[in-house]
Amino acid sequence: MRVPIALLWLFAAPAAFAQGSPAPEEPSPAACLPGLIARAKEQGVTPALAEAQLAGLTADPDVAAATGRQAEFEKPVWAYLDSAVSDEAVSDGKTKLASEASLPAIEAAYGVDRHVLVAIWGIESGYGSVLDDPRKVRPVLRSLATLACTGDKRVATWTAELVAALRILDLGRTTPDRLTGSWAGAMGHTQFMPTTYLRHALDFDGDGRADIWTSAPDALASTAQYLRSLGWRPGEGWGGEVLLPAGFDYRLADETTTRTLAEWRALGIAPAGRAIGADTDTARLALPAGARGPAFLLRPNFQALLGYNAAFSYALAVAHLSDRLRGEPGFVQGWPRGDRPLGTDERREIQASLEAKGHPVGGVDGRIGPKTRAAIRAYQAGVGLVPDGYADASLLDRLRAGP
Ligand code: CA
Repeated sequence: MRVPIALLWLFAAPAAFAQGSPAPEEPSPAACLPGLIARAKEQGVTPALAEAQLAGLTADPDVAAATGRQAEFEKPVWAYLDSAVSDEAVSDGKTKLASEASLPAIEAAYGVDRHVLVAIWGIESGYGSVLDDPRKVRPVLRSLATLACTGDKRVATWTAELVAALRILDLGRTTPDRLTGSWAGAMGHTQFMPTTYLRHALDFDGDGRADIWTSAPDALASTAQYLRSLGWRPGEGWGGEVLLPAGFDYRLADETTTRTLAEWRALGIAPAGRAIGADTDTARLALPAGARGPAFLLRPNFQALLGYNAAFSYALAVAHLSDRLRGEPGFVQGWPRGDRPLGTDERREIQASLEAKGHPVGGVDGRIGPKTRAAIRAYQAGVGLVPDGYADASLLDRLRAGP
């Protein structure tokens, strides 16, 4: 069953682009292409190449539509995990672990666990399967030109990625017909944006080209090198699921409080399965679905995964899939699957209500980020609720009902 992964691929843009924004206006590349060509030339792209590749490009209506969908899209963490860490994803990943002969050498060269690399490969492109789907794979220059001409607040980012894509051609790293990617311009087996390609892509199979589009060894080694640059620590895990004692002070699960594993244990926290590290190793505590969902202690390597894609659901999916590929079981604790997902308006209402009650959220934008979660914890503690910082329908009801 390829559909869920393909859908993930369509919607799971790199986090910098996965955050909500107003619906873009109808793109009009014809009007803005001259400016993009001028910008590329200013940035050192060969003028004839910039003109030949950009002149006459038309907007990709599917790309424009995808940015609109993205703004409203906020999938519960468990729904994302169901798709990304399906039984088939685990089974296919185990097949790749056995068949991709470059993995031991990549692991030895870069110190990144092969199970993590294969997990990223699976979540980013269904182990490369979506790259063979002409309905999903798009010309990167057209996608990025469409996005750079939408007029939304990320135009500078899209323009920089477009210039980087042109530079890839200028450097002869691939040909225009092979410069393909997702609607957001993410390319190849592990979905590098063009700027990431220029900084981190490398040739591992020895043919002289860093080909993340058709060479799995190149893509996986590039990913390992990128993870190292993001702080991945060889020989360490990402963390793991933990069980909290009755009466636990949930304010410690605030995304910043860091303790040693011995200190967390002294607070009554125990691993739900395998050991998480040594007593002196440090970790943060996270409750991605609040007190009614699983708890996790996160080691520094989890932060490296968040560097790859800042969406917590994404990092947890990579971490969990890597464990499943290693033969570990699923999570012990269940998710609050009966919860009704909140819409953007409801998330905004929660934020506005918190602000009105004296708990600043740093701007009412419909996105539940660290500041909003801190405001929720402060409100919950003040009214005698479990201060887990989780925004759900019961919190909204409570905010509406009283002080
Ligand atoms: Ca190569």
